[in-house]
Amino acid sequence: MLAWILVGLLAIYGAVETVRRLRLAAQLAAAQAQLTEAAMRDELTALLNPAAFQAQVDHKAQRVKQSGGSFCVLYVGLDNFERLNDGFGESVGDALLLEAARRIATAKGIEMEACRMFGSEYALLVSGGDALGTGMAKSILAKLAEPFDTQGLNTRLSGSVGIAVYPEHGAPEKIVGHAAVAMRSVKAGGGNDFCVYDPQMGMEIREQVKLVNDLRAAIAQHQLQLYFQPKIDAATLQVTAAEALLRWHHPQRGFVSPVVFIPLAERHGLIGDIGRWVIDEACRHAGKWREKGLRMRVAVNISGYQMREDDLVDRIEAALARNRLQPGRFTCEITESVAMEDTKVTRQTFERMRRAGLHVSIDDFGTGYSSLAALRKLPAAEMKVDRAFVCDLEDSEDARIIVSSILHMAKALNLRVVAEGVETAGQCDLLVKMGCNELQGYLFSKPVPGDEIQRLAIEGLGFGGAGFSDSLFQPTNLAKL
Ligand code: C2E
Ligand code: CA
Ligand code: CA
Repeated sequence: MLAWILVGLLAIYGAVETVRRLRLAAQLAAAQAQLTEAAMRDELTALLNPAAFQAQVDHKAQRVKQSGGSFCVLYVGLDNFERLNDGFGESVGDALLLEAARRIATAKGIEMEACRMFGSEYALLVSGGDALGTGMAKSILAKLAEPFDTQGLNTRLSGSVGIAVYPEHGAPEKIVGHAAVAMRSVKAGGGNDFCVYDPQMGMEIREQVKLVNDLRAAIAQHQLQLYFQPKIDAATLQVTAAEALLRWHHPQRGFVSPVVFIPLAERHGLIGDIGRWVIDEACRHAGKWREKGLRMRVAVNISGYQMREDDLVDRIEAALARNRLQPGRFTCEITESVAMEDTKVTRQTFERMRRAGLHVSIDDFGTGYSSLAALRKLPAAEMKVDRAFVCDLEDSEDARIIVSSILHMAKALNLRVVAEGVETAGQCDLLVKMGCNELQGYLFSKPVPGDEIQRLAIEGLGFGGAGFSDSLFQPTNLAKL
């Protein structure tokens, strides 16, 4: 009897032990699966990490090899993200990256396996050819363009998307890299767009590296020059200012546009040196004009990078003092998009500009997303209507409506409006009728060297037969300057 009880107890114990072991094994397997899953995921966004993404690409390529078809890799980079991260700190930066990841992974409403490559770069794998890839890219860009409302910061982001298709664009281990090359080519063109990989693109990047090296040499060998273009008062036809514009005559390539080399200089850390030189050189010319009795301001384009430099205003003040110029004679042209960044650093720089008494102008106006409230906070005295609107003025009702609303807004803010890129007498008439204060463009003068602007100013500029008379440049009371 006792033996039976013992056997029974042992059996019960054995069963309990088996259940316990099974439970432990299941727990262990779950923990291992979690660990494996975690090892595949990016910590911040929980998207796949690059190694796990490459494994998916390899797997998908294997399936395409066996049963045909194609797939795309979309490589997405957020434009100018570092600026926001630097300006608002990492916690806001992380929140933006997380929200961008969510939008990218669910663009078109489909949950997709997406990957965070590093920093503000992501990759996606999509079944199908380039038509599908470009459709997806458009929907990602649209999602990113919606306002971000994160930790009290209301901002907008844009992205650049590169698309590479397997098998057309190379082996499985190359395809992600090729999509990244396409993305960089979009960024080089200003971003906020997409393009499909082209084997030429690798070359373009090599070309860019060469151009950057040449630019470095050009700075060292003083090959850069400043040209100046007058701004003209619409009512009196007096020259009020001259805008300094950089010129680079490359020994082999000839003229290289600042639209090409300024963004390169910004990306490769050369804009600091260039920007400092431009300020000194512009003030040196303005000093010479002043000696001739010319009262015009000198306007300098200030890049986003310079707005984040601690000593920008100190440097401007020093250059002004060296050339015995008043701060109000120096215009800082800052593009609307940079002005609207509204980071702690840019706010500080604007405040320093205001305290120093510099003349501030909002450039390329109409291309960004300024609100009246945001504009009111800036110490600006002038805004420049972007050339794109001026150029369409005669043919497009929309352009006329935009320019007219810019003029109304400027009036409400007590700002003077300069129209840039005025090329025809028709545009000029319309602008004057609409109440534009100042005009700038080829109709009056192309940008010319500093000495030439002095000559033109003194001898009188030609303007549609009307001509500028010597009286425009009254002898200046130097004591007043
Ligand atoms: P921006 O500040 O908007 O300068 C106006 C551009 O329009 C200049 O081009 C000027 O030559 C051109 N322009 C002026 N009038 C007309 C016209 O009637 N018709 C046409 N088609 N174009 C006209 P540019 O000199 O090629 O400069 C392009 C951009 O490069 C500038 O745009 C500015 O953003 C940048 N840039 C130039 N110099 C500097 C600089 O010293 N520093 C910085 N940060 N940027 C600069
Ligand atoms: Ca400008
Ligand atoms: Ca402009």
